[in-house]
Amino acid sequence: MLRQYELVDRVLGYDPKADEALINRAYVYAMKQHGSQKRASGDPYFSHPIEVAGILTDLKLDTATIVTALLHDTIEDTGSTMDELTKLFGPQVAGLVDGVTKLTRIELTSERSKQAENFRKFLLAMSNDIRVLLVKLADRLHNMRTLHFIASAEKRQRIALETMEIYAPLAGRMGIQEIREELEDLAFKELNPEAREALIKRLNEFREASGDSVKKIADEIKAKLEEGGLSCEVIGREKRPYSMWRKMERRAISLEQLSDIFGFRVIVDDVPDCYRALGALHTTWPMVPGRFKDYISTPKANGYRSLHTTMIGPQKKRAEVQIRTLKMHEVAEYGIAAHWLYKEGNEEDASGEFAGTFRWLRQLIEMLEHGASPEEFLEHTKLQMFSDQVFCFTPNGLLITLPRGATPIDFAYAVHTEIGDTCVGCKINGRHMPLRTRLENGDEVEIIRSQAQRPSPAWEAFVATGKARSAIRRSIRATKQAEFGRLGRQIVKSAFDAAGREVSDTILERALGPLRKSDVNDLLASVGDGTVSPQHVLQTVYPEDPAPKNGRKRNIKSNGKDERDGSVRVTGRASGLAIRFAPDMYPLPGERIVGIMMPGEGITIYPIDAPALEEFDGDTLRWIDATWDIDPDHPQTFPTRLRVTAKNEVGSLGHIATLIADYGSNISNLSLAQRDMDFYDIQIDIEVRDLKHLTRIMSALNGLSCVNTVVRPRR
Ligand code: MN
Repeated sequence: MLRQYELVDRVLGYDPKADEALINRAYVYAMKQHGSQKRASGDPYFSHPIEVAGILTDLKLDTATIVTALLHDTIEDTGSTMDELTKLFGPQVAGLVDGVTKLTRIELTSERSKQAENFRKFLLAMSNDIRVLLVKLADRLHNMRTLHFIASAEKRQRIALETMEIYAPLAGRMGIQEIREELEDLAFKELNPEAREALIKRLNEFREASGDSVKKIADEIKAKLEEGGLSCEVIGREKRPYSMWRKMERRAISLEQLSDIFGFRVIVDDVPDCYRALGALHTTWPMVPGRFKDYISTPKANGYRSLHTTMIGPQKKRAEVQIRTLKMHEVAEYGIAAHWLYKEGNEEDASGEFAGTFRWLRQLIEMLEHGASPEEFLEHTKLQMFSDQVFCFTPNGLLITLPRGATPIDFAYAVHTEIGDTCVGCKINGRHMPLRTRLENGDEVEIIRSQAQRPSPAWEAFVATGKARSAIRRSIRATKQAEFGRLGRQIVKSAFDAAGREVSDTILERALGPLRKSDVNDLLASVGDGTVSPQHVLQTVYPEDPAPKNGRKRNIKSNGKDERDGSVRVTGRASGLAIRFAPDMYPLPGERIVGIMMPGEGITIYPIDAPALEEFDGDTLRWIDATWDIDPDHPQTFPTRLRVTAKNEVGSLGHIATLIADYGSNISNLSLAQRDMDFYDIQIDIEVRDLKHLTRIMSALNGLSCVNTVVRPRR
């Protein structure tokens, strides 16, 4: 365990202006707070925050970060409060500790997938201080180093998987390769110990067989470069088992085929020397085509710069070589931290306020915020497992995860079925948007509800989740069933009235057994949807009555108004799911109409003079009386069609359109056909309130000098 003075010395080593007293206070405070608590390893608990602080000194972090590391578990695991930390260590440190605590709580809450989502949310929410993430990374690294002390295998697996999927890629994204590789390897050890063991064993064999070739090759490369007048350092290194394993998996090759077990790093003084070294290597040993990459002229997103090449090197062995300056090397190992230290710190402004000028932190924030789209970010951090999902928020900040392509309706149903069922509109990021809008990552969605609302059948066409789809279907089925029930009740009453028979639920119950229905509502719904005829019900209840005949065209009652009791009410254009209009028939209020039972679908409404009705002439039992029942206080419009023959002269179409508008009607569709030189036919679809409205428009059109004839097409 790192001693107090050792920790302070390390920090002073790279930051002479560090607040020594603050670090000392935090060290002692953490020790006191954690008291006799123990780690799973049996070590005193306070060894953990101290080790975490030690890891962060490798990244040369500022005093606030080091102090935060020392205190990072005090709120969660000891009696410390924000107030106390603020008083003792200032608001900045207290805020950072609070951030780490929140991440820890997220970590502890739920199963794996949930955690990755929440983590991502937090990453975005907290990127205003990336030091929180750095402390969390170091915390995770130390926990991984001591993972084997945890008794529960399940818990070890969970932590290792999380490390592999979230923390290691995150470290990579931040350019901290050292930590990334160590995290990966520790996780690999837990997740796939057999593979790792096998790899290490084969590597040992390989190494023995080839002698100390790494050193020999490195020496030979160094000699060759110095011969060319370049001063350099050559580091030979074996790759970590996990990075080899990943390569083998990705390229589906065996260890024998893996050429890049050994990597070499050539460190030179400056950028021109990088290219000079490359030239010297390529003229000495043949390069492997397709493996050269110039990350100096085009650095990676995380700031990484180097030249990469692979050559058939000394001893005819393939060798991967990275050429870089010392500064590039430190950036590669320690991330943007090192980059910043070179750029702004040591040279010109060592006296400046360290904590305030950590510009690389801001750079990193910018990179996370703007440098990559969420998709790109997910890809880079190997969180592809979520790239087929979108993450949205309720106005209260609750995270809702949906499949890509999901709409606000899916969102509403994901929150609660009741919210989906009563959804009438939505605001996305504060703006009113259509319900079919596809949601994007990070959208805040507010659902507008009305208790009068029912799910619309049209929703089914664009929702993305099964939950929404089945809820919509369920609700439509229930609505339909209720409508069919109401309709069936009217139809049955009318049939019983016509036969001079009484009807009530008790009487109808007699038919339940014979007709195999579970209750009266079920029976009535079957009548409403046309699968059971009212005559059949009548016959079952009163078997002694003579059966009605199915024969020639029935005598439809003369005037719907007088017979309202027994007829089906048509309340509007969208009369619901049980009643619909025959296509292209355009019945209008004021016209006489009739319903035809369509088994399983309910009733289709026709104008009484529609020629199409002849089809049902022989099937009079399916005919149902129907009357309009339009609320005069809420006039509706109905579509209808006109055919106009007009003179082929300038402005005639304009006159017609203006007149229709003057009469308060809308044109919804219009098509023209030339009849001859003098006339043309216009088919106009318009919206009118009723037959009277239409008749007035037709008379007015007839009065135009440019109009020859106006008719409603025969239906
Ligand atoms: Mn911790």
